[in-house]
Parts: sequence; structure tokens; C-alpha cells
Amino acid sequence: MSALAKNYNRRKIAFIKGKGSFLYATNGKKYLDFVQGIAVNSLGHANPYLIKAMHKQANKVWHVSNAFMIPEGEKLAKRLTQKTFADNVIFQNSGAEATEAAIKVARRYFYSKGKPYKNRILCIRNSFHGRTIAAIFASGSRKMTEGFGPKVPGFDHIRFRDFKPRFPNIKDKIKNNTAAIMVETVLGEGGIKKIPDKCLKYLRKICNKKKILLILDEVQCGIGRSGKFFAFEYSGVKPDIVPIAKGIGGGFPVGAVLMNKKVASAMVPGTHGSTFGGNPLAMSVGNAVLDKIFKKGFLKNIKKISKYFHNELNKIKNDYPKLIKEVRGVGLLIGLQLFYDQKKFIQKLQDNNFLTIRAGENVVRILPPLNVKKSEVDLALKIIRKVCREF
Ligand SMILES: *Cc1c(COP(=O)(O)O)cnc(C)c1O
Repeated sequence: MSALAKNYNRRKIAFIKGKGSFLYATNGKKYLDFVQGIAVNSLGHANPYLIKAMHKQANKVWHVSNAFMIPEGEKLAKRLTQKTFADNVIFQNSGAEATEAAIKVARRYFYSKGKPYKNRILCIRNSFHGRTIAAIFASGSRKMTEGFGPKVPGFDHIRFRDFKPRFPNIKDKIKNNTAAIMVETVLGEGGIKKIPDKCLKYLRKICNKKKILLILDEVQCGIGRSGKFFAFEYSGVKPDIVPIAKGIGGGFPVGAVLMNKKVASAMVPGTHGSTFGGNPLAMSVGNAVLDKIFKKGFLKNIKKISKYFHNELNKIKNDYPKLIKEVRGVGLLIGLQLFYDQKKFIQKLQDNNFLTIRAGENVVRILPPLNVKKSEVDLALKIIRKVCREF
């Protein structure tokens, strides 16, 4: 009997070690792992460069309080701002903390401007921003909020389908007390749904017009996964606030909220904090991840290999048009939408030593490490084809 609570639906499989795109299970089998901790292990399992960086820092100092200067964090923040829209960074430990910090930054900005009544956040219903108490009410999903009332106030909702086929019908949802619009650039848990570039542009335009803030949640789609450092870069849009996590730590818990200096000016001493957030160990691993992702050609290679992956998946879709409805996503954030409940399909893939994970709308989510090899993509394609044939 497990002493763990039953809040997860765990598969009956455990691992003794990992290497790159592969996991070795206690059952003796070797699995191709295109879950990678849900877009967390951006450089695969047991990456030697990350191991070295962590060991090096572990021998020096693991943790000091944010009451002191932390040079490793200064360095990581500087690099994140030099490469992006952002001017300032606050480090956290997880995605939910990062999105909640984003909400705090938005509210505090209007408070500092003498408009404390501007505090409501407009979100997409059934999006995903984490499992903490405010974050679940931000996503507004019945499944996630059920039994966790009272409802946290301060969130309004639009539907994703309002983005299609034309511009979002959100003008009337923005009220005098709206502080920000917060959306995932690519809805991850919701089914790998990209907000079209023209909609992102429209969101920016309307935020400018109404003088409110744009928060783009890049916890899952950010840090190179899309083929650009941030997925919103495809649209040319500059957000005000961006929570990140997952991929930035390469498997070590790291989260952060990035922001421009306009909103950062409100975050004066004492307004926010975290005991663990930004500690030297986490920051050293984060810097090592960026060493690889910022390396010349790294993102270009993601674009190249993901294009191949998408093309080949579309060929499979064309061969099995009654099974696969759509190949979704951007870069190495890939969704295979089925016409049926995807659970059995994912199980079949696993029976063939290939690990994937579900997302909303019957989507099989495929998340290779960002340094995945073509031979590994080919192996995945071969197994997917085999399962389609047998299905
Ligand atoms: C995973 C995720 C989160 C929450 O991250 P945690 O680290 O699980 O708290 C928030 N937003 C998005 C878009 C995510 O995919």
C-alpha cells in the first residue's frame, strides 16, 4: 500500500535511470521518452553538461537567502533579459508560482499608479496556469476548481473558440477594473492549441488601447520548445509579463516571472519573495541550460527537426484519416489529436516502449527533449505508424 495520497493517476511503471531521450525501467525495458517530465527535461535525461554544472555548484554553496546577493541569479536574470523583451526577473520554483507572481505584478502595477480597482485578470476558460488556489480559478475549469471553493475572485473568462475564425470577441469583456489579459501562447494541457499570431497581435493592440497589461504564460511552450526562445516571438508581439518554468531548469525546479521595467517599477522591496526561489543551485543549472539553448544553431535545429517530425506525422495522419484528426502544435510541442479517447492509444505506444502523455481534446502530447536526434524521431514515427496500423 502506497503512503502517497492518490491525487495522481500513476502508470504502474518506474525508472532506474535515464539517458538523453531514453528511460530504463525497473521492469527491464528501455523506453523512448517523449514526455520528458512534461516539457521539463529540455536537454534530456542525465545530460553530462548539466550534471557537471550542478556538481560544481553543489560543492560550493547550495542555498542562501534572498536577503543576500546571489551572483548566479544575477547572471541568469541578465541573460534572460538580454535575449528577450524583459528588463527584470523574479525567480520562483514552479510554474504555478510564476503565474501567481505574474498576477501579483499586474495588480501591484495598477496599485502603484493609484488605480487599485484595476485588479481583474481576463483569462481563457479551461486554460492551465497551475494548481495553486488562485491559478485554478484563473483557468476557471470546473474539473480543477470543484470542491476548492470559495471561488477566488478577480478572474473573468473568454473562450478559446472566440479566437476563431476571426478576431476575438473580447472588447466587451474588458472593463474599467480589468488589469490584464493572461493567456498561454500555446495552450498545453488544453490540447496543444496555438493562439493564432494575428490574435496575439490583436490582443496586444487592444491591451495598448485599453491601457492594460498582456501576460503570456510560456511555462510549457517557452525556453526554445517552439523553435524560438519564446513561442510569442513568431507573432512579433511584446508582452508585459511572462511566467516561465518547466524547461528552464532542465529537470531542476526553476520558475521565474519576466517583466518590462514599466511594471517592474511597482515591485519595490517587500512586495514579493520566495525562500527557495533563485537559489545558487537552481540558478547554476538554469545557466547551464541556457548555455546550450543560446548556442548558435540550437534553435534552428529545433525548427528543422520539428518540421520533419510534423511533416512525417501529417503523412501518417493522411494514411489513417479515420484515426488521426489533426497534427497540432509548434516546434517540439506536438499534439496528435485523435477522433477517439486517446488513452488506449497512449497505452499501445507504451506497450511498444514509447512514452507520451495526454492533453485535452483527445490529444496525444509528444514532447521530445530539445536536443532530440533524428534517429529517435524516426523511431517514434515507426512506433506511431505500427500502433496506427494495429489500432
Ligand atoms: C505546467 C504549467 C503550469 C504550472 O506549472 P507547475 O510547475 O506545475 O506549477 C503553468 N502554466 C502552464 C502553461 C503550464 O503548462
